[in-house]
Amino acid sequence: MIHYEGEGICGIHMSMEKQAVERARTAFLTRRSRPLEFRAQQLKALQRMITEKERDIAAALKLDLNKNEFQTPLYELVGLEGEIQLALEKLPEWAAPRTAEKTLLTISDEVYIQPEPLGVVLIIGAWNYPFALVIQPLIGAIAAGNAAVIKPSEVSEHTARLLGELLPQYIDKDLYPVVNGGVPETQELLRQRFDHVFYTGNCAVGKLVMEAASRHLTPVTLELGGKSPCYIDKACDLSIVCRRITWGKYMNCGQTCIAPDYVLCDQSIQSRVVEEIKKALKEFYGDDLKTSPDYGRMINQRHFKRVTALLEGETVALGGESDEADCFIAPTVLTGVTGSSKVMQEEIFGPVLPLVSVGSVDEAIRFINQREKPLALYVFSYDSKLIKRMIAETSSGGVTANDVLLHYSISALPFGGVGNSGMGSYHGKHSFDRLSHLRSCLIKSLNMEAVNKVRYPPHSAKKLSW
Ligand code: NAD
Repeated sequence: MIHYEGEGICGIHMSMEKQAVERARTAFLTRRSRPLEFRAQQLKALQRMITEKERDIAAALKLDLNKNEFQTPLYELVGLEGEIQLALEKLPEWAAPRTAEKTLLTISDEVYIQPEPLGVVLIIGAWNYPFALVIQPLIGAIAAGNAAVIKPSEVSEHTARLLGELLPQYIDKDLYPVVNGGVPETQELLRQRFDHVFYTGNCAVGKLVMEAASRHLTPVTLELGGKSPCYIDKACDLSIVCRRITWGKYMNCGQTCIAPDYVLCDQSIQSRVVEEIKKALKEFYGDDLKTSPDYGRMINQRHFKRVTALLEGETVALGGESDEADCFIAPTVLTGVTGSSKVMQEEIFGPVLPLVSVGSVDEAIRFINQREKPLALYVFSYDSKLIKRMIAETSSGGVTANDVLLHYSISALPFGGVGNSGMGSYHGKHSFDRLSHLRSCLIKSLNMEAVNKVRYPPHSAKKLSW
């Protein structure tokens, strides 16, 4: 339901969503978001919010996803603090005019690129890391001097409510309003005109977002998902490999956009892979995994049903237990999975790991290339040539070799998808550039008019030989 409340210009009734956008636009037009001191002050306030409200944030994430309170600082907050720190240090450099190479024709001119704010950015978050996924793009939006309307995911309702309470207490509430609500409210927001839409979520909604943005010719960043493959070379130390995969796959109950979705490996190592995952699970979560404070839950019954339905007709080599009332699905490994199995047709986004047999690295590469370009690719091998070959002969948003997830944590690396897994990337300076207009500037002198004669009509052979 769209909230029609309040009066806008000339007493016309406006939805709350439209009012929030107008408020942000009006605030942006005052130009107060532009001075670097203001941006730094807002970023510091955001940093203060994270420090002072860490316990409230952890509590909301516990309620939404059963995240362990000691896990929240590590997985959801440390990265944000690092990004804020980096932006504070580098802002003067990022925002400064960038010199461009000159030619003979421009030797005495000023030629440079001036980053400038885009205007009002809409940030639409997803529920799986519901705090980080709105704050991370917000850091970029503030650093680049924009206003931003923030729409947290309604699915993670406790975190959404907390963001709605906290952000206006710490940062400029007109420049950065929070709009809470469900699909109708998001759709109402998408009818408004923005200067950039930054969306994180699934591909189907990504298409709707892009369609809505196209009506205003608004550029979009789409941080989507997909099936991220993980190839294991059979010569690897499987206990190390499986510990790393187990960590990345079952964290947050498998609801991580860059979690390894499925494993490609030789048939001969599959039973050892299952055994090693079992060992790692015991090491991480103990004997009674269901009561472990470190093991998460599916976000809701809808996603619980979606993921358990993927198990039907499959060979469960490990796990498989579930409890609908508790949204619990045990870490599960499936064997005998082929490319045409149901579980291989959509992103799993849950704690289910299919093992697909491939006889060689060539077969693995073919398997990956026959599918949509994934958000992440993982390859485990002692052979650096094999790793480089996998990277050269496939495509994905990002790659981590001999580990999982970690490319996400490096601010110097642009994080984003390619093809079906998204468009545009962010983190660190990439966020700043993504949410800036890189304006081409050429400043000439009014002197030396003689050199311009050649370009003015009338044109003649004589002028060309000049
Ligand atoms: P979600 O259900 O929270 O939806 C995301 C946002 O879209 C919400 O704010 C919601 O209000 C809005 N929305 C939903 N339906 C809509 C509609 N019909 N019209 C307009 N707006 C609508 O999150 P989700 O999509 O379930 O998130 C999970 C997906 O996100 C997975 O595919 C995952 O891989 C992907 N993801 C990607 C990244 C990344 O960084 N690339 C990060 C996290 C999640």
